[in-house]
Amino acid sequence: MQLYNTLSAEERAELIDQAGEQRLTLSFYAYAKIEDPKKFRDDLFIAWNALDALGRIYVAHEGINAQMSVPADHFEAFRETLETYDFMKGIRLNVAVEHDDHSFLKLTIKVRHKIVADGLNDETFDVTNKGIHLKAAQFNQLLEDPNTIVVDFRNHYESEIGHFKGAITPDVETFRESLPIINEQLKNHKEDKNLLMYCTGGIRCEKASAYFKHQGFMNVYQLEGGIIQYAKQIKEEGIESKFIGKNFVFDHRLGERITDDIVSQCHQCGKPCDNHTNCLNDGCHLLFIQCDECNAAMENCCSSECLEITHLPLDEQVKLRRGIQVGNKVFRKGKSENLKFKNSGDLSDISLAVTQTRGEAERSGAKPKAIRQKIKIKKTLIGKAEHYYVKAQVGLFIIENHELNIGDKILISGPTTGNEELVLEKMFVNGTENTTAKIGDKLTFTVPFRVRLSDKLYKVVN
Ligand SMILES: [Zn+2]
Ligand SMILES: [Zn+2]
Repeated sequence: MQLYNTLSAEERAELIDQAGEQRLTLSFYAYAKIEDPKKFRDDLFIAWNALDALGRIYVAHEGINAQMSVPADHFEAFRETLETYDFMKGIRLNVAVEHDDHSFLKLTIKVRHKIVADGLNDETFDVTNKGIHLKAAQFNQLLEDPNTIVVDFRNHYESEIGHFKGAITPDVETFRESLPIINEQLKNHKEDKNLLMYCTGGIRCEKASAYFKHQGFMNVYQLEGGIIQYAKQIKEEGIESKFIGKNFVFDHRLGERITDDIVSQCHQCGKPCDNHTNCLNDGCHLLFIQCDECNAAMENCCSSECLEITHLPLDEQVKLRRGIQVGNKVFRKGKSENLKFKNSGDLSDISLAVTQTRGEAERSGAKPKAIRQKIKIKKTLIGKAEHYYVKAQVGLFIIENHELNIGDKILISGPTTGNEELVLEKMFVNGTENTTAKIGDKLTFTVPFRVRLSDKLYKVVN
């Protein structure tokens, strides 16, 4: 029995075009306990190969995560292959709105250690004890509850261009980093608050919600099907979107607009913009946000260094790239010292680390070394600006860390605002005058200067 692809991508593309049949692009995932992933993988390959189904699928002891292209005529037969497994009975298949017959040209099913790299040891908790699934309308309702803390479990470059109003958006580059950070930040609210979580398609929250329940969180909820399903439901049901901006997606579009709000800035000039791009220099390929003007002026590059490199003859460029690992190109961490207006990354609060690329280190024969520049911590990050009421001169902030009390000295800081210090003399917490504001609270107070959405709120520690 042939259990691997026999056709090249080109041959497959030609066959698809000849057949002229419509194909559906879809994705699905399920967490389950799979005893023999290798056998599971082979069984799926045989069943799906017979249906001319293509795609990129990961299977593991913990379940399955699949992105696929299936002939429309075989859709029901395909669904039946899933129904033969108890844990996939009635499974939700996310079918893409835009169809691309060439979205996948091979059937690749890989056995992996995990279907999502979450860094968790599944033996230590019950992964099936998940958070309660919510549909868009229910999610909106719970967002209104003052006892709710909403957490975005995506990475900084995803939440930067769009997120739920008031969400905590951890400044992380991988999913696994966000779990301990949130656990620590919310450790005093395991019982009294609703933990409302969301991600792109729901898969990250499936595991994370079980992890947080295991950590002692009593009221854990997750957005069913993630932002993708939310966007679909608010359209179908005509309900208000509490998600603002764009949903970052992992294909060439890089983002799907949900509302007209632009919540991020061009990383080069700072003007409102939410278009991600990859630096044109193939040796860099940094993912960053660039407006049309900067794109034209910088020729799609992240820095003048990269711009110069793209002007070199190709063989020179290849020479420069030798030994440099660009790795996972599209999703490479979008942080660079060259990008003045990159908002996420609270660099002033931590030690700055500038690390040589592995390639540079190898060429120079040196071990990768980090140049560290310690900045003394004199302030604590408390939260971020959510709105500024211009007429009333009132700023609205969301508390994400620690707490604030009347009399505290605070700092509002951002690329345009600069650093402005104030003393909290009077404040409103969730609409009522109060003396203390805690994590998850909406804080408003008079600010005699304009506050920007990118501004952060610090407590000055003497
Ligand atoms: Zn710009
Ligand atoms: Zn670059």
